[in-house]
Amino acid sequence: MNFKSDIEIAQESKPLHIREIGKKLGLNEDELEFYGKYKAKIDYNLLKTHKKDKKAKLILTTAINPTPAGEGKTTTTIGLADGLQRMGKNSIVALREPSLGPVFGIKGGAAGGGYAQVIPMEDINLHFTGDFHAIGAANNLLAAMIDNHIHQGNKLNIDPRTITWRRCVDMNDRQLRNIVCGMGRKVDGIVREDGFDITVASEVMAAFCLANNINELKEKLGNIIIGYTYGNLPVTAKELNANGAMAALLKDALKPNLVQTLEGTPAFVHGGPFANIAHGCNSIIATKMAMNFADYVVTEGGFGADLGAEKFLDIKCRMADIKPDAVVIVVTVRALKYNGGVDKSNLNDTNLEALEAGLPNLLKHVENITQVFKLPAVVAINEFPTDSQEEIDLIKERCNDLGVNVVLSQVWAKGGEGGVDLAKEVVRLCQEENNFEYAYPLEGSIKEKINEIATKIYGAEGVDFTKEAEKEIANLEKLEFANLPICVAKTQYSLTDDPSKLGRPENFRITVRKINISAGAGFIIALTGDIMKMPGLPKIPAAERIDIDENGVIVGLF
Ligand code: ADP
Ligand code: MG
Repeated sequence: MNFKSDIEIAQESKPLHIREIGKKLGLNEDELEFYGKYKAKIDYNLLKTHKKDKKAKLILTTAINPTPAGEGKTTTTIGLADGLQRMGKNSIVALREPSLGPVFGIKGGAAGGGYAQVIPMEDINLHFTGDFHAIGAANNLLAAMIDNHIHQGNKLNIDPRTITWRRCVDMNDRQLRNIVCGMGRKVDGIVREDGFDITVASEVMAAFCLANNINELKEKLGNIIIGYTYGNLPVTAKELNANGAMAALLKDALKPNLVQTLEGTPAFVHGGPFANIAHGCNSIIATKMAMNFADYVVTEGGFGADLGAEKFLDIKCRMADIKPDAVVIVVTVRALKYNGGVDKSNLNDTNLEALEAGLPNLLKHVENITQVFKLPAVVAINEFPTDSQEEIDLIKERCNDLGVNVVLSQVWAKGGEGGVDLAKEVVRLCQEENNFEYAYPLEGSIKEKINEIATKIYGAEGVDFTKEAEKEIANLEKLEFANLPICVAKTQYSLTDDPSKLGRPENFRITVRKINISAGAGFIIALTGDIMKMPGLPKIPAAERIDIDENGVIVGLF
């Protein structure tokens, strides 16, 4: 089977001028800040002057525990918004901005796939409107101010050995993971060990995405803890007087980016925090703006539902004071087989036994959404060209037997037309009342909250904490941070903290190895393993295939 690549499909499309997309939101040219013909930023202050009273329906797309290739959440999110448009509904899709790391690394772009994409995909994947550079600049301004403060006499008494704030760049560059800086003469700074994270792992990114407005952003940036004094007290960005200038650097970045899908559906693509050490979804401001201008907003949480949906619901919804009206759980035949024990290289072969063995993983996620969070859910089978009819039928049959709503989604092959059945079911679900609940209240202790996530969402028997984690928890409770929500950094491949335990494991415990605080973003990170905040490039990076010709046409971005 020979299919057009994502970029070929995107380049054959005839995008509307972004002013036409603005019109769909009821915005005139003056209200758009053009970045060329196909991209515009929209000022968050328009939310004050264009405030609508009606409440849009919010739909969250999530997935089962994925294979390393991704199961098509972004693709489904876009195709569903297009399907809603085909039903005559006024829909907007809200997505994360891609990072250059994966674009040049293994995964490639993150603008959907097949006939369900946001365009211009080359721009969205490469720099876009420069938001990530602005976030990097704000991050690195703080880093420069820390070292300068120490160099200039260290009035705050910062112990350089305890500095947790790292520099960042939006690139997979393992060479910068650990560095020694400040070498040279006396005027060249203080010698210390440091390192770079990828920009999407910066706490500035998480704070940016969780701020409801620019004042809140400034406050969040001010609360960032950069390290500790010799007396072991936290030092914040506010104490260094850095947060005002950091927010000033972010003034334009904070305005959501408006683009379109292949079918002309408006799309906000804005912000992109990691889904492990951060919460993994687009900015609150973009979601709220989309909810103001549409009747249906479709958005995505990163990784599988145990991480992405849980954080979307327990962190983002809580901070934004919003709740979804329906949840779409994406499943693929290949992910079910993977969860059923099939090796990565054999996922294209029909294997009904493995498929069946993988189903309990899907059911656990359905149970979590409907019984823990009490939200209406539908399973969307994201159909791949390699799927056999028997495999699709088996998923439908098993879901029907168990009373689980299930719809076949063909948005990758057919665009919005392939998403109408899913759209219909989503519209129906959005009419149901829901009694949304968080997985845990904020009032519990840090350990209680982690325990609730692990037992309710992952199905663990309990949680073990290393000595180091215990110590940090005691410290954070002493500093009165116990009331923050929890952001678990865990493998996306398993409900456990071990990527090799697939399906629906039972009788396991989770080990929290470390606890970190993102006091600016406003959550506590529970690390269950080593999480890479500066990835490296693979042996043959995707970058080797990317090229541009004399007409400016880009190839090799898939
Ligand atoms: P996620 O958001 O879950 O990580 P994406 O939507 O980004 O997944 O899809 C990951 C990759 O899989 C993309 O390259 C996309 O083109 C491809 N893909 C998604 N759905 C399908 C499908 N139904 N058939 C073939 N390829 C698909
Ligand atoms: Mg995605």
